[in-house]
Amino acid sequence: MAVTAAGAGVERAKAVLREVFGYRSFRPGQEAVVADVLAGRDALVVMPTGGGKSICYQVPALVLDEGLTLVVSPLLALMKDQVDGLRAMGVAAAAVNSTLEGEAQRAVLADCAKGRVRLLYVAPERFQSGSFMAALRAIRIARLAVDEAHCISQWGHDFRPSYRDLGEVRERLGSPPTVALTATADPLVRRDIVERLRLREPAIHVAGFDRPNLRWETARAGSLREKAEAVAGELAPLRGASAIVYCATRKRTEDLAQELHRRGIPCAAYHAGLPDGERRRIQDAFARDAVRVIVATNAFGMGIDKPDVRLVVHHDLPDSLESYYQEAGRAGRDGEPARCLLLYSARDRELRESFIEMAHPSAERVLELYRALAAAAGRRVHVRDLMKEEDEPGFNAAVRTLLESGLAVKQGWTLAATRPDGEAAIDTGLLEAHRDHSFRKLDAMEAYATSRTCLRARLLAYFGETPPAACGNCGPCLGGVRGTEPGRPAAEEALFEELRAVRRAYAEAEGVPPYIVASDAVLREMARRKPRNRAEMLAVPGMGRVKFERYGEGFLAATRSAAAAVRPVPAARAARPEVRDAAAFTPTVRETLSLYQDGLRDVGEMAKARSLAPATIVSHLAELLAAGAVPSLEGLVEPGKVELVRAAAGGAPVGSLRPLKERLGDAVSYDELHLIRAWLSRQER
Ligand code: ADP
Ligand code: MG
Repeated sequence: MAVTAAGAGVERAKAVLREVFGYRSFRPGQEAVVADVLAGRDALVVMPTGGGKSICYQVPALVLDEGLTLVVSPLLALMKDQVDGLRAMGVAAAAVNSTLEGEAQRAVLADCAKGRVRLLYVAPERFQSGSFMAALRAIRIARLAVDEAHCISQWGHDFRPSYRDLGEVRERLGSPPTVALTATADPLVRRDIVERLRLREPAIHVAGFDRPNLRWETARAGSLREKAEAVAGELAPLRGASAIVYCATRKRTEDLAQELHRRGIPCAAYHAGLPDGERRRIQDAFARDAVRVIVATNAFGMGIDKPDVRLVVHHDLPDSLESYYQEAGRAGRDGEPARCLLLYSARDRELRESFIEMAHPSAERVLELYRALAAAAGRRVHVRDLMKEEDEPGFNAAVRTLLESGLAVKQGWTLAATRPDGEAAIDTGLLEAHRDHSFRKLDAMEAYATSRTCLRARLLAYFGETPPAACGNCGPCLGGVRGTEPGRPAAEEALFEELRAVRRAYAEAEGVPPYIVASDAVLREMARRKPRNRAEMLAVPGMGRVKFERYGEGFLAATRSAAAAVRPVPAARAARPEVRDAAAFTPTVRETLSLYQDGLRDVGEMAKARSLAPATIVSHLAELLAAGAVPSLEGLVEPGKVELVRAAAGGAPVGSLRPLKERLGDAVSYDELHLIRAWLSRQER
């Protein structure tokens, strides 16, 4: 059988992969991209960080018989790593960037012109230089690769002005076949990349987002203290394995690192506010395993390729699933099991919203600012007199918008309008769209954080891949969300706090960290079960005999008195049927129960969370109410309606709903009737 030209190219590509790079086979997705690049087709490649994007253009660059592959890359450090790595494999690769002297740069370009270089890495700013563009004209450019291509889009999280003109640059280079690569899945960003680079009928490749070795988990943690507690609880059993804890702000990074130190967990804080030398020192220490735990902002990670990170905890809600996936994806690059845990509290959203306010002022505010300047008729106005309050959030971004559109100029602390009639030039639609977009990304992130269904499936669906039905290896698949839940009864919360105080006392007396005495999970379980004696205490998972001998009595004293406060049952109530244990319900009803226990009361929201019809949720709740597992209608049905129904039933037990509904009209819905009937049936028993 004749081997097609394309087929032959792919065979050669495999040989290059083996012989030059030393890899036995392409990863899923790589081969198809390589085939397209070899065939000269434009392509957009969406692959997660660490997925292996570089191979997609590096291998073709070595297979093609002639011509140079020009690689645009935004980060000098990454560029240097790549070039050094390629050279070490014997590949003729070079870089041109601002660190290179004029003479050296000319020498590199001369080599390229002679066909001695296969891959040339350039920073996008280079294309602004006339002499550089002139030199490129003497070079045959076979392929253009745009790495981190999302930087071209203002919708992306990493927009870089120097990327903006790459479409035009590409045309000036004679429109060579181009491959754009990114880890960002956002459809708007993808479209922007294609449009701005002026790709022609590009092949779109989305691949490799699935990371089966990663276990995705979420846990609720209300206060910062709970979060610190949770993080410490996760780090303690790691026994020297590497972990990264991401925080939303520098301050939280430092506070948490300090707190962990206090608890005897060695770690280093890392953020962009540290001097360069210090940052490098920490990165190196992490790479060498001299520091095992890094508490960092998102400044930590670019170019960090440590394979054996076993745990990535997010202490705060990230701004988008893209950011989350990129950061959490730094776990388990070696393919061994690793965990990605996201802590979540409702307050996280507020913090993120304030970040969005800062980055994206409302169009109204930008207009208002412009009007204030225009009214000053060319006179300069001090920023102090323009801000609504000291440090108004979003003020700087609003100013930047005006400066960038040429409607205002800045001098020191003053601003002035450049013309009186520029209002129409403010693209309010675009401003609002950017703002909305950021909020929608946050919504998706929050939906993940609060999801009760397979997290891996959610991520894959978001990134455009076909998800598995259920992965069996994420928090929800393994049995629900852990952590403290807001819907917990107050008495249980109080007992939990008391148990913590007992734990603290033991820990201080023995000079050990609290989690050595007992983990939060164990205390939670104690608070729930309220053991009354030694046997019941020993039945609490995590409370072994030795622990009981050491600490059991202290905990028992607390749980025993709490149990006494709850259990003596008045005669009238004693007659009531036992509350059925959660285990007695089917799994799907149990899941609805756990939403209820999390504090959810809105049937619509529960239905959405579970991707079920509201009527199904109502039937679950009715079953739970009738069994007493959901103890009251509070939050589910307005109190007045119960009385309406009682009155309409005329004191008789509620049987068929239809006659009641006819009597009540729109005052009470069928769903509400269902719930009320279930609850009344239990009261009547
Ligand atoms: P990305 O740019 O997508 O973040 P890289 O191109 O830097 O990822 O690749 C990540 C890691 O995966 C590198 O260490 C690379 O050598 C490795 N890698 C890429 N492709 C393969 C392959 N086919 N087989 C084995 N390792 C690979
Ligand atoms: Mg890369």
